[in-house]
Amino acid sequence: MKEELEKRVAERTEELELKNALLHESETRYRDVVEDQTEFVIRWLPNWEYTFVNGAYCRYFETTSEALLSKSFMPRVFAEDRPSLEQVVASLTPEHPIGSIEHRVYRPDQSIGWTHWTIRALLDNDGQVEGYQSVGRDTTELKIAADTIREKEVHLAHVLRLATMGELVAGIAHEVHQPLHAAKTFAEAARRNLEAGLPSGIATAIDCTKEISEAISRTAKIIRNVRAIATSRPVELKMLDINRIVQEAAGIIAFETRRAQVEIRFELAEGLGPVQGDRVQLEQACINFFMNAYEAMANTPPGDRLILIRTCGTESQVEISFSDTGCGIDTSNKDRLFDAFYTTKPQGMGMGLSLCKSIAEFHAGQVWAESNTAGPGTTFVLALPRSVTPKENLTP
Ligand code: ADP
Repeated sequence: MKEELEKRVAERTEELELKNALLHESETRYRDVVEDQTEFVIRWLPNWEYTFVNGAYCRYFETTSEALLSKSFMPRVFAEDRPSLEQVVASLTPEHPIGSIEHRVYRPDQSIGWTHWTIRALLDNDGQVEGYQSVGRDTTELKIAADTIREKEVHLAHVLRLATMGELVAGIAHEVHQPLHAAKTFAEAARRNLEAGLPSGIATAIDCTKEISEAISRTAKIIRNVRAIATSRPVELKMLDINRIVQEAAGIIAFETRRAQVEIRFELAEGLGPVQGDRVQLEQACINFFMNAYEAMANTPPGDRLILIRTCGTESQVEISFSDTGCGIDTSNKDRLFDAFYTTKPQGMGMGLSLCKSIAEFHAGQVWAESNTAGPGTTFVLALPRSVTPKENLTP
């Protein structure tokens, strides 16, 4: 029996040694994988202290694991981004233990880099968080590329605004001419009345000056609008009243509306609440929808040319729709409409809707087209979230 027992113990020991060797081998392989990869891998305690850092992470920060372990990694995180990191970490639960974040870091040369992380909460047997593991990578170059593209888009948007202005210039000249002509007529009337020297003439002359002042204000407003559209300026995100934006956009192209013999009807939601956005960009998107609708209705009988502007909102977003009674769209091309250079017009540039899409995306929103069901024509919808997130969208 003793011999038998010793034999079994020996067998069992051999078995355990083999398993240990396999475990060791697998741990070494795992460590090599973690060490050799270019992704950063770190583990840390709820008080932010490192418990593990891999080689890629150390190389990026030009340091060693000995220098990092037991220290907090927070000082490496860009100060302004620490609250968002804390928020993501606090949101991790046993049911949703994984989160992600892109935040800035201080690099060894004191420059600022961007990093993207997937964070997993590590739970003990009771479901309590005992630490976290983050896997990340440097996204600085991607960020710079995205910023360059955005800058180019802002520049392109300006060029296209100038192109739109070019199309509108005859109308604008006419718009300015009208109040100026009125002002001249009233000024002459005032002079005639004053020259006559009658007391009643003085009262009439005073009325004339009020009309002149009114005409000058109208002219100044038109010029202000033109300047706002034509001037190259940085993007400015503010809380905006979308109902006002569509009405102002309609005001800017009022002459074009009359020329195209189109009726604009507004069905604007009351108490819509504000949306975060750039006024000029959003006005430009509206102008593009208007201009496209006018062109689409060129063959619609004048009495039937109608654009219905509707706004509606929920707690999280606002929608503006532009429904026309024009030629309609080929639904199989519905998504191509928003591609750059897609046009069905002989003189078209195919940039209007593409720009609307960029503007929507800049505002973290969406834009789409639908064929009208109750009648002819198309409806374009611009949906904008109440607030533009993520934060990096704030820099054009
Ligand atoms: P462009 O107006 O220079 O052609 P856009 O990007 O503004 O460029 O429009 C792309 C195409 O989308 C147009 O050529 C037209 O075929 C279609 N489209 C745009 N708006 C409308 C509309 N309201 N009704 C019908 N088709 C439209």
